Amino acid sequence: MVDIYWGEDPLSAPGYIAPKCVIGLDRDGVINVDRGTYTYKGTDFEPIEGSLDAVARLRKIGHKIAIITNQGGIGHGLFTEDDVDSLHQYMLDLLGEAGCPSIDAIYYSASSHKNDMYAKPNLGMFKRCQKEHPHIKFNKGYYVGDKLSDLKAAYKLGAKPVLVRTGYGLETEQQLNKFTYRDIKKKTIVFDDLSSFADWIEAH
Ligand SMILES: [Mg+2]
Repeated sequence: MVDIYWGEDPLSAPGYIAPKCVIGLDRDGVINVDRGTYTYKGTDFEPIEGSLDAVARLRKIGHKIAIITNQGGIGHGLFTEDDVDSLHQYMLDLLGEAGCPSIDAIYYSASSHKNDMYAKPNLGMFKRCQKEHPHIKFNKGYYVGDKLSDLKAAYKLGAKPVLVRTGYGLETEQQLNKFTYRDIKKKTIVFDDLSSFADWIEAH
């Protein structure tokens, strides 16, 4: 059985598998403005300038895309998984309007506890993503985030850690100068925002 898609946009074809390596994305502070508090309503979801277009561009040149985000507010009882699911539907609609009609996966953790195997910097979400989407191999890709927990996860996974200076990125860039993070710092590439990272990927 071969799926043949007759529509105009192959990116929206069922079962479409992008040919290039995965680009994992943190959400808050990378795609949308990190308000310093929890974002779980569409009205609070403010895309960072150029970020939706950046995801669309990365997708169009053939990258697999997986969004991996800690949503500790669920564990604190501040909002529910249903809230997160509807916010993500809203985000996907915005991405579609920006020219990115599909991505591979979204995973979120329900806590940010350091002993929760699913919460970054632990790798549970990434491992589950790879298991459920066997074409995704983070050790051949990138993971973009704004916090140390993102870079630590990427480093442990063998993905290329990418730091953006949006969200908590400037603080994280300072933290990276600590001696204990020297190995992560060596591997990390830093960009002003997701849009600049997409420019760099496009140029390679
Ligand atoms: Mg973040």
